[in-house]
Amino acid sequence: MTSPVFYILVALAGMSAMLSVIFFMAWLTLGRKPYAMSWALAFLAATVQWIFNLSAPLFPSPEVFWIAVNAMALVLITLGLRGHCQRTNCRHLPKNLWPYSAAVLAVIAWATVIDPHVGVRTAMVPLYAAVTLFLTGVMIYRHREEPRLAEIAAAITMVTFGGVQLIAGSMAFMQGAGGDQAFRELYMHFNFLTLPAGYTGMAMFVIFMLASDLSEEMKTIAVRDQLTGLLNRRGFNEQSAKTYSLARRRNLPVAVILADIDKFKRINDEHGHEAGDQALKHFSRLMQVSRRHEDVLARVGGEEFAFILPGTGLEDAIKIAGMLRSRVEIAPLTYKGKTLAMTASFGVATLSESDTCMTEVIVRADTALYRSKRDGRNRVELESSQILDTRNGSLRAASA
Ligand code: GH3
Ligand code: MG
Ligand code: MG
Repeated sequence: MTSPVFYILVALAGMSAMLSVIFFMAWLTLGRKPYAMSWALAFLAATVQWIFNLSAPLFPSPEVFWIAVNAMALVLITLGLRGHCQRTNCRHLPKNLWPYSAAVLAVIAWATVIDPHVGVRTAMVPLYAAVTLFLTGVMIYRHREEPRLAEIAAAITMVTFGGVQLIAGSMAFMQGAGGDQAFRELYMHFNFLTLPAGYTGMAMFVIFMLASDLSEEMKTIAVRDQLTGLLNRRGFNEQSAKTYSLARRRNLPVAVILADIDKFKRINDEHGHEAGDQALKHFSRLMQVSRRHEDVLARVGGEEFAFILPGTGLEDAIKIAGMLRSRVEIAPLTYKGKTLAMTASFGVATLSESDTCMTEVIVRADTALYRSKRDGRNRVELESSQILDTRNGSLRAASA
């Protein structure tokens, strides 16, 4: 009862139980993510495994005890790895990982019952853990182009703990068939020295990663418009500030196009709010047809949309706005068998030398949009100072 191993095992069992509850609560409250459930079950298996370790004398034979403990450890490893596969949508690993764990367990059973080999039966789990930890680290790190800080930290922890397990496994293996006492001592000391910290540290970094997933998700929700899936005004403001700094640094032209659906209130009044919503979705799809990766498109108001086009000068912006305008005109919405014609008005402005932020360009585009509405709708207008700046014939024609 007073052996230090006993206290360590009790601590590990308690910690695992708490981690299982934490991941279960995370699953319950943070959008029922399948990977949170996998990890809750993984730590439940871990809890059972440590409890088995504490109750060895209750098993009918040492062999049964050994196989049961290792089976639980393999369930823990498999569920842990499965959780990471689910989280990263990993396509390189097989969906069903159980056969691999079953094969490892078969080797352990063989080395326990049929052809006893202490080294093999002790080393299998730490070595298998090392392999899965390395794989997990790589999976987390390579999941996205630019891993987040929490992911980098989790990946480093996984690989480090994988290295530690590799050392533990090698020591275990060196016990040989008969179980060399010196290596057994070495293995036990090394394991109990590294396991509690490595194990809890790894779990904490996974929790940190889960929290960072959630915060990322919240950020995405905060900057997206629910109806169209485009950026909302907040997202637009963020992106426009970024585009402004980039354009200034690289000395790039930037164009802003504002679009406002004409007489949109009428669609709502005559066909209902649902038709209005469908019209907004339809309009947003039309706006996205030939959009480039770097273009920013947002729904900045009820039926107002805004483009920021990095690297686009005034002439191209006018062409693009003209194309968008005619695309809306020729592609009416079909709603409940009816054809609802739509048009939109556009205002165009580009970044000039004297602008100190993107808002100044947006205000000019808005003035142009206002003129477009005032002068009859379903047209593209430019901000007047720019018409004067570019008296080269073609532009005057476009804004005439
Ligand atoms: P104008 O040509 O001058 O732009 O006329 P308009 O009717 O398009 O402009 P107005 O600003 O008077 O009306 C905009 C309407 O857009 C009013 C509002 O009910 C509607 N609207 C705003 N957001 C939504 C939405 O999310 N769904 C629906 N169905 N309608 C919306
Ligand atoms: Mg309108
Ligand atoms: Mg409007």
